[in-house]
Amino acid sequence: MGSLQLPVAHLSEKTELIRAEVREFLTNEQDKGTFEPRCDQWLNGYSPELTKKLGEKGWIGMTWPKKYGGHERSALERYVLTEELLAAGAPVGAQWIADRQTGPLLLRYGTEEQRTEFLPKIAKGECYFAIGLSEPNAGSDLAAVRTKAVKTEGGWLLNGSKIWTSGAHHAHYMITLCRTSPLDPEKRHAGMSQLLVDLSAPGVTIRPIYAMTGEHHFNEIIFEDVFIPENRLVGEEGNGWKQSMTELAYERSGPERILSTFPLLQELTYQIQQRGDAQLMTHVSMLVARLWTLRQMSIGIAHMLEKGETPDIAAALVKDMGNKFEMQVAEITRLLIPTSPSVSAASRLDRLMAESILQAPGFTLRGGTTEVMRGIVAKGVIKK
Ligand SMILES: Cc1cc2nc3c(=O)[nH]c(=O)nc-3n(C[C@H](O)[C@H](O)[C@H](O)COP(=O)(O)OP(=O)(O)OC[C@H]3O[C@@H](n4cnc5c(N)ncnc54)[C@H](O)[C@@H]3O)c2cc1C
Repeated sequence: MGSLQLPVAHLSEKTELIRAEVREFLTNEQDKGTFEPRCDQWLNGYSPELTKKLGEKGWIGMTWPKKYGGHERSALERYVLTEELLAAGAPVGAQWIADRQTGPLLLRYGTEEQRTEFLPKIAKGECYFAIGLSEPNAGSDLAAVRTKAVKTEGGWLLNGSKIWTSGAHHAHYMITLCRTSPLDPEKRHAGMSQLLVDLSAPGVTIRPIYAMTGEHHFNEIIFEDVFIPENRLVGEEGNGWKQSMTELAYERSGPERILSTFPLLQELTYQIQQRGDAQLMTHVSMLVARLWTLRQMSIGIAHMLEKGETPDIAAALVKDMGNKFEMQVAEITRLLIPTSPSVSAASRLDRLMAESILQAPGFTLRGGTTEVMRGIVAKGVIKK
């Protein structure tokens, strides 16, 4: 059996410089009323206004080449930025997917035409993307994807459906995993491709699926003979599985897998400080110590990404541990102080508690379930 290596990386002084700048910006935005801190806002929060401002500050596509509208900053600088956005509970769902995974995917596999057309718009905070992987019978078993694209003159005709698609009703485009060759039961991962689909194209229907919060976050998307021009194939025909796995590594590796309930932890700390109860504060300190460890591991992953490595096994491990932590913040808050969770409560603590409890069931599903993450870690470590 092999061992899992995670480098011990530190954020340098230069990297830390951006933290104060982002913090000041976000505090000003809160004071102006652009947003108030909420839990899980990297996926559920949507503010075109804030996204546009972040684009103007150069905080979307930060690591991308300047010729595509990027800013050539380091992955660790981007790490600090994302950490601050998450800690502030800022509504950044509009740009999150495009910044985190679509941009890097197009940089790695996209054509020059695709990069030139899409990356500058994403970096300006004007173009949003959705993730088109899951289908009604293809979630953990993604190789069961049945959405199909058939060659036609000048492109493809797409038919099928996707489900649980976050923010598709806001997004302009979606990278869609589909079959471009018939399924071969012996080689289930072969014959898939990624198509860049315009969600406003004729034949695309987006239907809401309401979450238990009552919010419209998810969607079901139906494709009926949707024409996809041939220049919208991403990467190589038939290489969709490998490309999607690269995309998932970006999707699973960030600090959003440990910080979705950070605004609640911050409010809990404040409330207990106000009470001056040392014993309760010990419990909070234990939570913070766990967070610090997870953060160190998460920075290690960012460091590996910076070096061009694909830390898929380490990312799966941190995602699993991080998701558990995010959920326990609400559990431990409940045990430490009385709360009456309600999304419309007057008290910030009660509101943040309600958001955490209602969003928590999705933490261990989105981006791959706990069981799937543990399978990746077990198989990966044994193979090494
Ligand atoms: C908040 C949220 C946002 C999402 N956003 C998107 C999105 O934008 N785009 C997108 O494509 N998808 C999205 N998803 C879907 C998500 O990726 C799937 O829910 C997830 O991959 C699990 O698939 P499933 O729901 O079909 O469950 P299933 O795969 O049916 O799993 C059901 C249960 O069986 C277990 N299981 C399955 N296979 C195995 C196995 N081999 N070994 C052990 N246990 C197993 C699972 O762990 C799980 O507990 C989102 C989900 C959530 C909750």
